[in-house]
Amino acid sequence: MKVVVLGAGIVGITTAWELMRDGHEVTVVERQAGPALGTSYANAGLIAPSHSFSWASPRAPKILLKSLYLPGQALRFRPGLDPHLWTWSARFLRNCTAARAVRNTRRKLRLARYSAERLHAIAGDAGIGFHGVAGGLLYLYRSPRTLERGAANMAILREEGMDLRVIDADAAVALDPSLSAARERIAGAVWCPDDGSGDARVYTCALAARCAEMGVTFRYDTQATGFARDGGRIAAVRTDGDEIAGDLVVLCLGVWSPALGRRLGLSLPVHPIKGYSVTLPIGPGHKPPTLGGVDEDNLVAYARFGDRMRVTATAEFAGWDTSHKPAAFEHMLARVRELYPEGADYDRPDHWAGLRPMTPEGTPILARTLGNLIVNTGHGHMGWTMAPGCARIVADMVKGQTPAIPLDGMELR
Ligand SMILES: Cc1cc2nc3c(=O)[nH]c(=O)nc-3n(C[C@H](O)[C@H](O)[C@H](O)COP(=O)(O)OP(=O)(O)OC[C@H]3O[C@@H](n4cnc5c(N)ncnc54)[C@H](O)[C@@H]3O)c2cc1C
Repeated sequence: MKVVVLGAGIVGITTAWELMRDGHEVTVVERQAGPALGTSYANAGLIAPSHSFSWASPRAPKILLKSLYLPGQALRFRPGLDPHLWTWSARFLRNCTAARAVRNTRRKLRLARYSAERLHAIAGDAGIGFHGVAGGLLYLYRSPRTLERGAANMAILREEGMDLRVIDADAAVALDPSLSAARERIAGAVWCPDDGSGDARVYTCALAARCAEMGVTFRYDTQATGFARDGGRIAAVRTDGDEIAGDLVVLCLGVWSPALGRRLGLSLPVHPIKGYSVTLPIGPGHKPPTLGGVDEDNLVAYARFGDRMRVTATAEFAGWDTSHKPAAFEHMLARVRELYPEGADYDRPDHWAGLRPMTPEGTPILARTLGNLIVNTGHGHMGWTMAPGCARIVADMVKGQTPAIPLDGMELR
């Protein structure tokens, strides 16, 4: 079958890989000059089923409200006139009940665990490296009170069979000796031994290169602008150049999915939530983290990718704007420097901001519609973790095979 995949982020490239491996003739259409130049460019790198908590929770409305009048919050809500934001927010608020938070968390966790396995399976099959670090992630807590609350929150993941261990500061330092200078700053941690980290951009670019070697066609610098229809079905993708015909189209456009979805009459509930990321070089004599993790009291995530350290933070409603100023990074850098004072060269930061493609529920949309369109988008804050599993699910849908996990909550809604 001729398949046109729209978007060359982690979601589009893993989807192209799985479809190519199943014997399809795949063309990837990407408006940028190469893969992973959108949100997949510089994320935190955590491969983290243990991060599956639903952002829509009973506590969320209060946190959003507080962000309106208190500066410097990790989550920043800015009301605007965009009707898309208001529809999205109303649905987000409807998901803030305790029962829905538990349901959405369980669905995300199931997908994330399946996907983390697929992530490594694809890397093995394709023979690619991505600065992967196994051995778990550390969720650090700075006070006994926050440690206790964090450990209690994790109960839902444990009920689902995740291996999570509450450890004291000495045990955290034993797992990551680079934390020794911060021994007195932390009360303890939750260690998730099955999680890990790795560079999503390196993975996406290496997999795209393998796809090209194995026959996938890449149309970079090509903007998808609409569709030619044949009755209800899509006959071809219209671009700023020519038309690309296909038997099937898979839409993997991250935060830009709603814009193209509208051309087909679809209203996709995917909204951008901005995050900030800084990458620092590691040289001889530095003591970078040996395990990735999150400073839970400050919501700052970090990981090491070979000779670079990545630090990310903040969830901001800022529309589709990816601009950034050095001041936006000061707080996160100060916090991570407390934990890893000699972690990297803090004088040579490489700043970036990206947009998480969030659905109100936190689960992505994985659905077939209009006969020959599959939507694979809305992976939010967990696209690196969830993309490889979603890619296999798309390929199974095309095969007419039942996916390995149930897809409740991932239908078009
Ligand atoms: C600060 C931050 C930290 C994060 N940390 C983590 C983490 O630790 N772990 C994790 O699992 N996830 C994390 N994420 C989430 C993850 O990065 C995203 O979910 C994921 O990158 C989304 O991938 P995507 O392929 O859907 O989107 P993208 O990577 O944005 O890809 C979409 C592509 O579509 C292209 N495109 C758009 N419109 C068109 C068009 N009309 N025609 C052609 N091409 C088009 C774009 O150029 C882009 O390349 C983080 C995100 C951020 C912002």
